[in-house]
Amino acid sequence: MTEDARAAGTAGAAPDGGRPVALAARGLHVRFGAARAVDGVELEVGAGEIVALVGESGCGKTTLARGLLGLVRPAGGTVEHGSRPLVRTKAGLKEFRRHVQLVLQDPTGSLNPRHTVYEAVAEGLRVHRVEGDEWERVAGALSRAGLRPPERFFLRRPHELSGGQRQRVVIAGALVLEPDVLVADEPVSSLDASVRGEILALLLRLRAELGLSVLVVTHDLGLAWNIADRVAVMYLGRIVETGPAADVLLSPRHPYTKALLSVVPEVGRMEPVLLTGEAPDPSRIPAGCRFRPRCPAYAAGVPADVAARCETVSPAVLPAGDGHHTACHLTEPAAP
Ligand code: SF4
Repeated sequence: MTEDARAAGTAGAAPDGGRPVALAARGLHVRFGAARAVDGVELEVGAGEIVALVGESGCGKTTLARGLLGLVRPAGGTVEHGSRPLVRTKAGLKEFRRHVQLVLQDPTGSLNPRHTVYEAVAEGLRVHRVEGDEWERVAGALSRAGLRPPERFFLRRPHELSGGQRQRVVIAGALVLEPDVLVADEPVSSLDASVRGEILALLLRLRAELGLSVLVVTHDLGLAWNIADRVAVMYLGRIVETGPAADVLLSPRHPYTKALLSVVPEVGRMEPVLLTGEAPDPSRIPAGCRFRPRCPAYAAGVPADVAARCETVSPAVLPAGDGHHTACHLTEPAAP
């Protein structure tokens, strides 16, 4: 176990039910100058599991996703695919990226307007020099992404497609390499409400049919509610709460998760909590609990012994009942 695992706790970030691990961050740190964008994260995505990584914009979730994809060099810690650590050689990264594919949020930006659908989907096969019948593989990926019959889409260009069809082409471009993990960064945020449900249903179907693992990065807790098996909540570079989606979203334990959920109409059944205090800044992480300057529970008054710990000790991720694991001194189990 790494130092970070000891400090942050690992169990809360682990998949349930003894699933094998598909993708994991082990004590991962990513820094940009003085900014600790990812600050010792333990997170696992199980085989066939959908995990939603949620948090406000700027909390480090996209940087963590890029770290998990091997797109940024970590300042510390490791990424594992299956039980194997990512080897950061050119060949190691290329092999890893065949198995762990990124689905970007803006299909218009991620598709070359001059390329046909066929060329867009075949690109990954050519980059990775995949042998076999290219036509068959492209057609199969488009079908799995719900573009049927696939031949009808081969010669179309992005501007001839709807937003939902473009997102399906992006997903087909990932599927063509037969990955076992998709990392989807805000996969439906640029789509109309009517199409969002279709793309989420597609991700659920791909998990069921292909056994894919999916890490969905989103600021939208309603989306997490609709799709995720497990939720991990991130604040200022750290995971502060994890657990089965229904448990975390229906009875959050961490004050930050409670505040996020209080303004989500689908799942929020509590008084809206406005977060005040300093805007989070990863280059100036507060001492003690990093959420303390904005914590409504601390501001409302906690017992003196807890307050002293909030001010001086960074809370570890520990069991907090009902499958939750949280990083908060208020929910820490009593010392034996
Ligand atoms: Fe709030 Fe203290 Fe819990 Fe941090 S440890 S979230 S400051 S109560």
